Amino acid sequence: MDMNYCSFCGGPVILKEIIDDHLPRYFCEKCDSVHYQNPKVVVGCLPIWEDKVLLCKRAIEPMRGYWNVPAGYLENGETVEEGAAREVWEEAMAKVTIDYLLVVYSIKHINQVYILFVSELKEPVFDIGVESLEVQLFSEEEIPWKEIAFNSSAFALKRFFENRKVGSTKVHMGEFIFKDRIRK
Ligand SMILES: [Zn+2]
Repeated sequence: MDMNYCSFCGGPVILKEIIDDHLPRYFCEKCDSVHYQNPKVVVGCLPIWEDKVLLCKRAIEPMRGYWNVPAGYLENGETVEEGAAREVWEEAMAKVTIDYLLVVYSIKHINQVYILFVSELKEPVFDIGVESLEVQLFSEEEIPWKEIAFNSSAFALKRFFENRKVGSTKVHMGEFIFKDRIRK
């Protein structure tokens, strides 16, 4: 992301080669600060009840009206598991217990890393959170594949059903590739 001003002193920043570093960094010549920029972590989970997965229809852009795995940015001071469970609470008003790590998914062009778990609903109780239009349990046959919001969610759902078929708790690594979207 482009940066114009120093977040410490408000001075102008320049892109500068730093000795012993492999990338140019934003550097403030007024207060000598180096501003490192790193990917954001998105956490979430597939909440499971019996043979079904809980999905949320997004009430916000991007991809408003499309179904998604509950997920969002990890906050400071949270473990990834806490963040994933919080997102389920915010989007689906449901309490979950984290089961296992399912997916680590990199999206290089927007600097995001998705960490998605499988979780269990403590009870089949959920409601529509502020960022959702609908919240619903889906069996594998009922998943609205053409209305899934993001490749990361489709990837996680597919890998979950694969795992379940063979009784595995394997972790799957994924990466967003542009041609996947164009092919569609
Ligand atoms: Zn500065």
